[in-house]
Amino acid sequence: MSDSIAPLSLPTADAAEPWLARKAETGLARAADLVARLKQERPQDAQAAVELWNDISVELANVAAVSSFFSEVHPLEAVRTRGEQAMQDVQKVTTDLGLDRELYDIFAAVDGSTLDESARRLLDKTLQDFRRAGVDQDEATRDRIRAINERLLIVGQEFSKNIRDDVKTISVTPDELDGLPQDWLDSHPVGADGRITVTTDYPDLVPVVTFCTVRQTRHALRVAFLNRAWPANDALLRELVDLRHELAGLVGYASWADYDADVKMIGKGSAIPEFIDRIAAAATESGERDLGVLLTRLRQDDPEATAVTTTDAAFYEEVVRREQLDVDAQLVRTYFDFTQVRQGLLDVTGRLFGLSYVPATDATLWDGDVAAYDVHDGDAAGKRLGRIYLDLHPREGKYKHAAQFDLRPGVSGRQLPEGVLVCNFPRGFMEHDQVVTLFHEFGHLLHHVLGGDQRWVRFSGVATEWDFVEAPSQMLEEWAWDADVLRGFARTLGGEPIPADLVAKMRTADNFGKGYRERTQMFYAAISYVFHTERPADFTEATQALQTKYSLFPYLPDTHFTSSFGHLEGYSSAYYTYAWSLVIAKDLFSAFDRADMFAPEVAARYRDRVLRPGGSRDAADLVQDFLSRPYTFDAYAAYLAE
Ligand SMILES: [Zn+2]
Repeated sequence: MSDSIAPLSLPTADAAEPWLARKAETGLARAADLVARLKQERPQDAQAAVELWNDISVELANVAAVSSFFSEVHPLEAVRTRGEQAMQDVQKVTTDLGLDRELYDIFAAVDGSTLDESARRLLDKTLQDFRRAGVDQDEATRDRIRAINERLLIVGQEFSKNIRDDVKTISVTPDELDGLPQDWLDSHPVGADGRITVTTDYPDLVPVVTFCTVRQTRHALRVAFLNRAWPANDALLRELVDLRHELAGLVGYASWADYDADVKMIGKGSAIPEFIDRIAAAATESGERDLGVLLTRLRQDDPEATAVTTTDAAFYEEVVRREQLDVDAQLVRTYFDFTQVRQGLLDVTGRLFGLSYVPATDATLWDGDVAAYDVHDGDAAGKRLGRIYLDLHPREGKYKHAAQFDLRPGVSGRQLPEGVLVCNFPRGFMEHDQVVTLFHEFGHLLHHVLGGDQRWVRFSGVATEWDFVEAPSQMLEEWAWDADVLRGFARTLGGEPIPADLVAKMRTADNFGKGYRERTQMFYAAISYVFHTERPADFTEATQALQTKYSLFPYLPDTHFTSSFGHLEGYSSAYYTYAWSLVIAKDLFSAFDRADMFAPEVAARYRDRVLRPGGSRDAADLVQDFLSRPYTFDAYAAYLAE
């Protein structure tokens, strides 16, 4: 079958800046023309109105996608800066459209009953977007909303910046760093005063709290870590939750949590604490059991100890793994050579979902490390579904985490879905948790491509409820934990496949502590919810109370964790979402046969009923359609009890 739609043709690195500037300029100009046309024609026909709105949305989504991608990933700084500028431009247009009363009146006046189901859904969502933006409020209220949004952006950026910038240090003698690996010590020379400086950045924090045998050192660093951005961020956090509360009130909601939950699977704010309590209860038994193992081991060193605190948790978890669970991380990584893992990922997902990845020899690449593939349905002669780019190694100025970036949302008959996997993996051997991350992020990329055959861009790809987004990726992680699947690509350079009993031990070690970790997650989720609903007068006092209620680790005196809890900026009241997605991921996976992870019928059904529809239906309906029943908590509870 031949392709009628050409993929996006990317510029070479030196041509990227003018290319991006022109893309943004022409895209925004076309959007402005279409808005002017919509206002001038004032279509009474609902179909004509939503189609024009879709055309506008395609232009804006295309500009937003390339700008965001180039701003975070391009090797040249000038191009990244240009991308940031373009993002601000498209953001401003989007905000203005959301508050444009004249546009809203056009959509509010059309008769949606003449539309088919998907166009009707688009009209409903469009009206909801406008109302949530505050368009139907009076002039003074809209001015206030505009001012709040501007201020929220600045306060949020400052809150995050304070966390990034406030690196604290402790000063210790070499003896006080007993237990640290030699390569770490080599990179931390002793100063003239005979002391070594240790920072609260992760490359110092993680090895010290995990390996340092001196409790006082671990404690001092943990306390410093929990006081980052304090007290500066306390006042900013107060302003953040107060402004969000005011904004929610102005558009008709009782709280920010209600406003935020209204467009998520969970539906309403009051369902969040119920969910948190349910997870906490389900995690208690295994959490307390594993905590008991840590405490018993701690008492061998300190017979007086009565509780495990976060000063000791990571250290004794590592001791237990080493002494009792027998997993040698140095041995494990010899099975995960990067090149073999990358090929394994393509082989596994291709076989599972009936896809072929054909090297895209005509693609222009922004860096020598990048690989491009066309994704075809079935074999290489099948229909081209989209194009993917893999950019998997670190590079100066590149985005530091692991994520999927849209390059283009798919629109049926108009443009192919294209996306980029951006990660920072080593070129040689990988840690197994990096392999799991690779599968996870590839899950988002597949969702973007397979869900990208949509008439309405509003529903293209990963355009689903935000508390469902992680579920498909969390489920795909299971394939990186299965001994039979791993045997296909996890091999030493000599060709020896990873033994099944080693994979079983890795699983056991990974399972250890999941109950108390989940309780800690629910402590964070409770902070995120309670701060946005009760808005407690003293954040530290409230943190202490919530930690006592949800975490299995006691509060460390004189710490102010929430000043550096960066997710309060991005997730606001919805930190519960990761656990919510995981409950559904476990239920989705329960439909697969663990003895035959490639069974074709169930994989095809999952692909067609959960991934392919994108955001064109509510996530709960997609899941029900796949499972032939509503989703339940059972598989997740079984996983915790495992
Ligand atoms: Zn994810």
